[in-house]
Amino acid sequence: MQRFKSDVVIIGAGIVGCALAYELAHYNLKVTVLEKEADVGWGVSKANSGIIHASVHAEPRTLKAKLCREGNELYKELGSKLGIKLRNTGMLMVAQNENQLADLEEARQRGKANGEKGLKLLSRAELLEKEPALARSVTGALFAPSAATVAPYEMTIALFESARENGVEFYFQEPLQRIGNKNGYISFVKTRNYSISTRWLIDAAGLGAGDVAHLAGCGFTITPRAGEEYILDKRWGNLVSHLIFPLPTRTSKGILAIPTSDNNLMVGPTAVEGRDKNYTTPHGRAEVFGFIQKLLPGITQQNVIASFAGVRPISPTGDFMIGPTDVGGFYLAAGMESPGLTAAPAIAKYLTGILAEDGLPLVPKVTWKPREVPINFRDLTPAEQGELIRKDPAWGRIICRCEEVTEAEVVEAIKRGAQTLDGIKFRTRLGMGRCQGGFCGPRVLGILARELNLPLTKITKRGRGSEIAPLSSKELLLERVNID
Ligand SMILES: Cc1cc2nc3c(=O)[nH]c(=O)nc-3n(C[C@H](O)[C@H](O)[C@H](O)COP(=O)(O)OP(=O)(O)OC[C@H]3O[C@@H](n4cnc5c(N)ncnc54)[C@H](O)[C@@H]3O)c2cc1C
Repeated sequence: MQRFKSDVVIIGAGIVGCALAYELAHYNLKVTVLEKEADVGWGVSKANSGIIHASVHAEPRTLKAKLCREGNELYKELGSKLGIKLRNTGMLMVAQNENQLADLEEARQRGKANGEKGLKLLSRAELLEKEPALARSVTGALFAPSAATVAPYEMTIALFESARENGVEFYFQEPLQRIGNKNGYISFVKTRNYSISTRWLIDAAGLGAGDVAHLAGCGFTITPRAGEEYILDKRWGNLVSHLIFPLPTRTSKGILAIPTSDNNLMVGPTAVEGRDKNYTTPHGRAEVFGFIQKLLPGITQQNVIASFAGVRPISPTGDFMIGPTDVGGFYLAAGMESPGLTAAPAIAKYLTGILAEDGLPLVPKVTWKPREVPINFRDLTPAEQGELIRKDPAWGRIICRCEEVTEAEVVEAIKRGAQTLDGIKFRTRLGMGRCQGGFCGPRVLGILARELNLPLTKITKRGRGSEIAPLSSKELLLERVNID
């Protein structure tokens, strides 16, 4: 067991934990992040719609409304600082009958009260001019220009890399096991391998936030709500140019058409109350396509190349839970249902302000290392590509054909911290294209083994227990002989 001291400990390296780590990295503090998975962003933050929402859904005066608006603005600034591409689509909330037109006006009023700029009601003709693929039966829309899309895992990784580069320490596969409490104040935290003394502990554990709070002695319950999403081939990436929303339901923003920042079209999510498992179902697929085809009749299920489900951590209060608790030094960044991805940078600033008011000394760092943005070979001109290949032939070896990812990018991703197949996938998009890893899978295993200096049998999909080829062919043969 290794022991050390840290000014602040954050539990959870999702978008919220990483945004907070990034914010705190600007100050002279020792900050430690504990994550139970083998990499950042593998909780709710990798499996969502990737929308930087306009603040038109949450009721005014809630934290969700305020931090969604502020987070949306911060994304534009962070995107260019960290080299993350946003697709500035804007959103259209579409009425499907005359009765829904009054609801659009209500959403406009709500958005205005939340500080959204540029909101505009569109007539049916104006709407169809913007989005000709919509069903002829639509009756009007609310246009919100500030909405955009982002690859959520790219943003999480960028915040992580920048925080780590500026001194934050991350420990992976280290689930929190114990919290020490001395006279009503946090004194230490323990994982399998570490005991860390600290006075400031932040619960940013997503779906696990309730369990972490129980360990600290102030419990609450996070309820899961699963949502299934379906990604269509890039051919459909420009079917619509705006995010298409229906009117919201009681439990969700409804089933959407999402032009992603990587130029796919994604449709979903569903909202299954109480389900905490991230699998997709024939029922979910039928629900998504049954609904979306009424809005966009041209879409067919045959063009789905991938599907996934994410689980929303639903707050018991109906709003984000951010700030101090009854246990001294124990703070929440919990109940991060949607728009938690959008709000994350604003949540980090808001919580940092609370910590400062409560006495955390914030002395700005004199030096700040800007993030070195990794090169995406597919985005370069042929002349730029040629130049790279001349310098290093690994730039010319395409490992993933669908997404045009080169061997040099895979090696670079490993140097930046990827230790697993999924780590490479989320850093480079390798395996995310039409063939879903059929071609590149075996090749990338070899590169991981070579660069990490490990036998192939030790290479995992997503950390301990997910070895891809746990037995060598000799061992497989012996096992077979034993069975026979
Ligand atoms: C289907 C779906 C669609 C969504 N769409 C959007 C959208 O378009 N826009 C938007 O703004 N929001 C959206 N959201 C919400 C958004 O994804 C979440 O608000 C956000 O990702 C929450 O981030 P987080 O960091 O709080 O949680 P997480 O990403 O889950 O991070 C928490 C981390 O804590 C770790 N952890 C848990 N317990 C422990 C422990 N005991 N010890 C150590 N580590 C631990 C987990 O492994 C995890 O990595 C959507 C959510 C879903 C499910």
